[in-house]
Amino acid sequence: MVDLSRKYDVLVIGGGNAALCAAISARRDGASVLVLEGAPKFYRGGNTRHTRNMRCAHDAATDILTGPYTEEEFWEDLLRVTGGATDEALARHMIRESKDILGWIVEQGVRWQPSLGGTLSLGRTNSFFLGGGRAMLNALYLTAEQLGVDVLYDAEVVDLDIDDGMFLSATVKRGDGRAIVAASALVAAAGGFEANIEWLRQYWGEAADNFLIRGTPYNRGSILKILLEKGVQEIGDPTQCHAVAIDARAPKFDGGIITRHDSVVFGIVVNKNAQRFYDEGEDIWPKRYAIWGRLVAAQPDQIAYIIFDASSRNSFMPTLFPPIEAPGIAGLASKLELDPAALDKTVGEFNAAVRPGTFDHTVLDDCRTEGLTPPKSHWARRLETPPFYAYPVRPGITFTYLGTRVNKAARMVMRDGRPAANMFAAGEIMAGNVLGRGYAAGMGMTIGSVFGRIAGREAANNARN
Ligand SMILES: Cc1cc2nc3c(=O)[nH]c(=O)nc-3n(C[C@H](O)[C@H](O)[C@H](O)COP(=O)(O)OP(=O)(O)OC[C@H]3O[C@@H](n4cnc5c(N)ncnc54)[C@H](O)[C@@H]3O)c2cc1C
Repeated sequence: MVDLSRKYDVLVIGGGNAALCAAISARRDGASVLVLEGAPKFYRGGNTRHTRNMRCAHDAATDILTGPYTEEEFWEDLLRVTGGATDEALARHMIRESKDILGWIVEQGVRWQPSLGGTLSLGRTNSFFLGGGRAMLNALYLTAEQLGVDVLYDAEVVDLDIDDGMFLSATVKRGDGRAIVAASALVAAAGGFEANIEWLRQYWGEAADNFLIRGTPYNRGSILKILLEKGVQEIGDPTQCHAVAIDARAPKFDGGIITRHDSVVFGIVVNKNAQRFYDEGEDIWPKRYAIWGRLVAAQPDQIAYIIFDASSRNSFMPTLFPPIEAPGIAGLASKLELDPAALDKTVGEFNAAVRPGTFDHTVLDDCRTEGLTPPKSHWARRLETPPFYAYPVRPGITFTYLGTRVNKAARMVMRDGRPAANMFAAGEIMAGNVLGRGYAAGMGMTIGSVFGRIAGREAANNARN
């Protein structure tokens, strides 16, 4: 039984990777630790449940990584995907610390496996969790419990008592009642606000109603909101997030990885007016998959259709939802409720603009269009082999970047620039410090593990002094 009247050294809010890394790290440093997870036990672990891999720097190949990935290369990748919208000192600190995480996370019971085939060519840079995110979480929970970390499920924190940058206590909902939990230090690891449609609507307007949320419905940003209201400095643009194109038939929440579509480079993408709107062959897919959520979000009614033909049917990962199929383009348009003449015209113009080349989807090949706006710069092949197929897609929001500003010790920074007295943050809730925009696969887990471990250590230290 967890005794909520006791004052813990460290209170961790959240139940995903960042929270568990913080809890384990604080406990290993001698602190008493309570984890409050808002979700029921079955759904514990937030978005972390859906993950497959983590990006860490390493100087040499490992048992499962095919070659070195230096700190500098990681930094250059981050710089490119964010376009410079990152805190360089903090990002470089995270990258340096990530080297250690590869071994540290194994010490906490997590096991690696070689890169999965058919993913985003990550075999050198990203380590895959044996059994995926759920298995990873199970290992972390087991370790935490064996170390003596207390964990409460169905324990949503609904308020924080903060006095001038000093955390005093949290109010936690327990069934119909509420309890006050005091602790010497706080680690906030309660995710972003991606599952809070009303909050998303403030920035995206009615378009937000058509967004699908790829992960947990429990990341409603309540802790983030309270912290910002109570004087913590905000970081990041509220419209920036990780968003990919996912099947429009996916559930509103928690559809996970199997609803994502990686077939864009094999065909064309049109909106509800049957018009193309972006270069489907701009760059190799691992560098571009994460722009398609925002692109679809900008289209009328936030819907688009990936159109391809029989020649590509078996070229990409099998999908959960089968493609919609028809023997001809006009028939396909009717099934999609698009204007058949408009789709026929778009496909005809595309086919006429395709120049001959040697198709190879693993390199920037020479199959391209000429005289077409927008162009398809690579992998352009005529859509001419029946049957024809389509996947309807909508923006799939993975996680948001608005967060709490932190320093290298994962300590929150107050609006006036002072470090908070005893408040730390890790994971999605502070991702915006590193990710101002853009994304490189596997970084969500890097941010959670690195800053979670630091936050736990620093919170334990803070509680001792
Ligand atoms: C489908 C999918 C696939 C992904 N794949 C990858 C991948 O392979 N690699 C990668 O690096 N990233 C991936 N990500 C992103 C990754 O999941 C996140 O960046 C990472 O898990 C964030 O960890 P976290 O601990 O900060 O948040 P989460 O794991 O989301 O945990 C947040 C926790 O806070 C709890 N919570 C929220 N509010 C409260 C409250 N008021 N009181 C108490 N508890 C609260 C939630 O219940 C949840 O347990 C993926 C995301 C999705 C959705």
